[in-house]
Formats: sequence, structure tokens, C-alpha cells
Amino acid sequence: MSADSSSAAVAHPFDPGCIFCRIIKGEIPCFRVYEDDEFFGFLDISPVTPGHVLLLPKGHYPSVLDMPESVGTALLRGIARLGNATMQTMNAQGFNLLQNTHEAAGQTVFHAHWHIIPRVHGDGFTPWPQQENPGKERMQSIADAIHALSVSD
Ligand code: 5GP
Ligand code: ZN
Repeated sequence: MSADSSSAAVAHPFDPGCIFCRIIKGEIPCFRVYEDDEFFGFLDISPVTPGHVLLLPKGHYPSVLDMPESVGTALLRGIARLGNATMQTMNAQGFNLLQNTHEAAGQTVFHAHWHIIPRVHGDGFTPWPQQENPGKERMQSIADAIHALSVSD
């Protein structure tokens, strides 16, 4: 995320070629489920499970890495409100919070967004197939490299 210390209300960046910007603006219809000053939510057109919703910043940021840190609090508020409301509506016992960053990870719409996917016990959806870890030495070298990069500016 890029740093942004301003707290004043500013116009949200808009991309006329972006389908999610156009949905937020009302140019393209959606089943709206949530809205506050910073975030917007609607039903995913192709749900992974019933009640699958998308939560996105009103501003056009192609990926989460482009978003200002200042919207972090609003993001957590939106996740909590929409997560609870969606679980209650769908009689779900949990949800998966999924965020695809860049094409290699499955991102298809380049306006950052979070998937909230309601889950019920025994629904058979398995989003998390795991592999064996590559061994202690390789784990340590990966951890050291990520740590060095993540704490530097
Ligand atoms: P991504 O693959 O980028 O993480 O997720 C994009 C999501 O947006 C997909 O799950 C897809 O079904 C949804 N989507 C794409 N176009 C539209 C649309 O026009 N309306 C709605 N409601 N969802 C859309
Ligand atoms: Zn956009």
C-alpha cells in the first residue's frame, strides 16, 4: 500500500473503462449490498457460494498495492459489517475473505476488491489445497528474504 496521510474527503479516482467504477457510479446495474464514504459492496454475478459478495474501494485502484493506507480502517469496517450481514442472511457459519492480486493470482477485474464467500459446514467447497513445505533450510531462506524486503522502505 502507498502512504497517504491526508484525512480530508477527496474525489475518488475514476476510470471510465473500468466495469467496477461504472457499477459504483450507477452506469451499470448491480445488486448493491453495502455503501459508505469509502467502500461499496454488491453481489458477485457468478457466485462461488450463494451470497458471494464483493467489497471494493470507491476509488479506482488497480490492485490492493495501489490503495492508500488511509482507507484501511474503512476496509476493516466494511469487512466486519458485510461479513456479519452476509453470514446472517445466508444462515452461514463462516466466510472466506479472498483477494486476488494480479493476473497470476486470478485477478480478472483490475479495480481492487475483496470476495466475501459465505460458508456452511459440509458445503464441500475447498479453496485451500495445501502442499508439503519445502524443508527447514528453504523455509528459513524464504523467511529471511521476505523479512528483509518487508521491513525496508
Ligand atoms: P477477480 O477474479 O478479479 O478476483 O474477481 C472478479 C469478480 O467479479 C468475479 O468473481 C466475477 O464474477 C465478478 N464480476 C465480473 N464482472 C461483473 C459484473 O459486471 N457484475 C458483477 N456483479 N460481478 C462481476
Ligand atoms: Zn475502477
